[in-house]
Amino acid sequence: MVDRYSRQILFPGIGKKGQEKLGNSSVVIIGCGALGTIIATTLVRAGVGKVRIIDRDFIEYHNLQRQVIFDEDDIKDQLPKAIAAERHLKRVNSSVKIEGIVADVNYTNIEKFIRNTDLVLDGLDNFETRFLINDASLKHGIPWVYGGAISSLGMTMTIIPHETPCFRCFCAAMPNLQVVPTCDTAGVIGPAPFIIGSLQATEAIKILVEAKKQINRNLISIDVWKGAFYSIEISPRPDCPACHGEYEFLEGKFGVKTTSLCGQNAVQVLSPKVGELSFKELAARLEAVGKVTYNEFMLHFEIDSQEMVIFPDGRAIIKNTTDESLARGLYAKYIGA
Ligand SMILES: [Zn+2]
Repeated sequence: MVDRYSRQILFPGIGKKGQEKLGNSSVVIIGCGALGTIIATTLVRAGVGKVRIIDRDFIEYHNLQRQVIFDEDDIKDQLPKAIAAERHLKRVNSSVKIEGIVADVNYTNIEKFIRNTDLVLDGLDNFETRFLINDASLKHGIPWVYGGAISSLGMTMTIIPHETPCFRCFCAAMPNLQVVPTCDTAGVIGPAPFIIGSLQATEAIKILVEAKKQINRNLISIDVWKGAFYSIEISPRPDCPACHGEYEFLEGKFGVKTTSLCGQNAVQVLSPKVGELSFKELAARLEAVGKVTYNEFMLHFEIDSQEMVIFPDGRAIIKNTTDESLARGLYAKYIGA
């Protein structure tokens, strides 16, 4: 395996010792869109020992422009992102333990997902879960790397618990979601997330090989269209709740919502009552009224202009609507309340 990594072992910042440390490390990537795919492919190729990839979504054609490890076959095979990522990356590096998990990360499960890992990487498209990662990482003393990209812009920041300012020091409260542009409203060009994801992966490698002095302590902000790079110093906020051990997001103060997915014309419905679904039984029932296809990972159902994707844990994504009550209604009607 030395040969596989020979070029990065030659790099003095890593060397043989660094390579060994990478091999003994484990990371969690939360969100596997443009940022997540770049981070995942970089770290799997670099030989990080264990890579866990968590994502709640499936792949659509408009993802392929920037989500670099997916292809048209994944869409035809109806694969969730986490499963497609695991399959592709296992072919890239079979010595890495890769685990794809299809799930919505929220306050009830995040601690289970990040326990016993060395580092968490943010490949998300929403602020709520970032605040949650921040709380969980501070509580458990696990470093994490924030990243976000939209349009031609991107930002990243490394958070080392109790050493650097945290994400809530930088971003005090949840932004008003009505005014936050998303990839689906403002668009995005590939190079913005490619650069931010690459910077996040670089931070990850530095943290894992313990190149402490090299870790970036500033917020990096870029505009690839302008060719502009900024490094901005963030100060710790004296009244930051997370830095004072108040983990409001992790404690579920804001609950788990039926969330409209980041500007997508879709709503996610969580139904803890359902539990494990039998796709076979559900398909038999739904086939009477609409078009159904399914595999072991997800069930796709179409009726009139409505479309929904259902996962084995009972979670559903209702497409072509942003109306949460309509989505809940459709869920109750076809899957069960
Ligand atoms: Zn803070």
